[in-house]
Amino acid sequence: MSTEQASVLRHKLLRWWQVHGRHGIPWKRAAQGVLPKGGEELNPYPTWVAEVMLQQTQLQVVLPYWQRWMVRFPTLQSLAGADEQEVLLLWQGLGYYSRARRLHQGAQQLVEREDSVWPRDLEGWLALPGIGPSTAGSILSSAFDLPFPILDGNVKRVLSRLIASPQPPVRNSKALWQLSAELLDPEQPRSFNQALMDLGATVCTPKTPSCQHCPWSDQCAAYASGDPAAYPVKEAPRELPFQVIGVGVVLNDAGEVLIDQRLNEGLLGGLWEFPGGKQESGEAIEATICRELQEELAIEVEVGEELISLDHAYSHKRLRFVVHLCQWRAGEPQPLASQQVRWVKPQQLSDYPFPAANARIIAALLARLHPEEGTDAA
Ligand code: SF4
Repeated sequence: MSTEQASVLRHKLLRWWQVHGRHGIPWKRAAQGVLPKGGEELNPYPTWVAEVMLQQTQLQVVLPYWQRWMVRFPTLQSLAGADEQEVLLLWQGLGYYSRARRLHQGAQQLVEREDSVWPRDLEGWLALPGIGPSTAGSILSSAFDLPFPILDGNVKRVLSRLIASPQPPVRNSKALWQLSAELLDPEQPRSFNQALMDLGATVCTPKTPSCQHCPWSDQCAAYASGDPAAYPVKEAPRELPFQVIGVGVVLNDAGEVLIDQRLNEGLLGGLWEFPGGKQESGEAIEATICRELQEELAIEVEVGEELISLDHAYSHKRLRFVVHLCQWRAGEPQPLASQQVRWVKPQQLSDYPFPAANARIIAALLARLHPEEGTDAA
């Protein structure tokens, strides 16, 4: 792209953004010039939290989480000193829990630094857990007004359309990074990157881009093609693996329910769950639950009626959870495949961070135990 073309696009985008940008977002006040330029007084902590929450999650979903977070952990020090369980509990429902754990670990790393200064270069941010080049660029430009390009999902879509890229963004990352850097306004990187993200979020939307309201429509190759929604070009869809998971909600004679805490590694690490595991080929679900509870907790149970069955799709697999009520019969529960196990009163389950799929299991259990309270388990 020529310097002149980049300059025209920049100018058009920033003029559009002055009128149509999403200026009400709390952590974007810095981008509107409310906070002083130069950065000495700036505190990138609110931006950092927001940027990590926004990875794979929409702004409208993030906003209430961010607001609650900033009340509970208003400073870097308050987050660094927090208990991980409380961090996960506050994140509950946002998904991709490793983001919360890495944010927590990053805060601890930063407060342990001898110089106590926020990083102002790419390397400094990339050294923190869970921070990739786009999140780092976004924090640096948004919090410090430094000229670093970004390439999040919205920006990939907008730029792929601008040039009508014949390749899916994942295969064209180098060229898209280069384009983002060429377009970036060196005088106003904070405003430019915010404008680019806002254009993607409000005008150049995934399914039906509003090209008639777009400041780039005269230069956009996808629009010129007559079918802008055909871009970005998609990868051929792949069939997601499907698994059935047998889950036991195990009660003891005291009416307590057994939960275990997942290992820290992997998807949903550190969260609590009801024990269970994959159904093997040809196995009855009751047998799956008995086997898994024996293998993972060294207990014997009597499998009772089905409590609930629910489907849940992750980005890489689809799961069906078939959940049965169980009565504990023998064996002291051992954390053979988890960090710890615990018997808790059903009313105490809300004190523990669970994956989203488990919320319906808890609701079904409470409705079964206390039908007179009218809990809706559906
Ligand atoms: S003209 Fe349409 S497709 Fe092109 S950038 Fe604008 S909204 Fe997106």
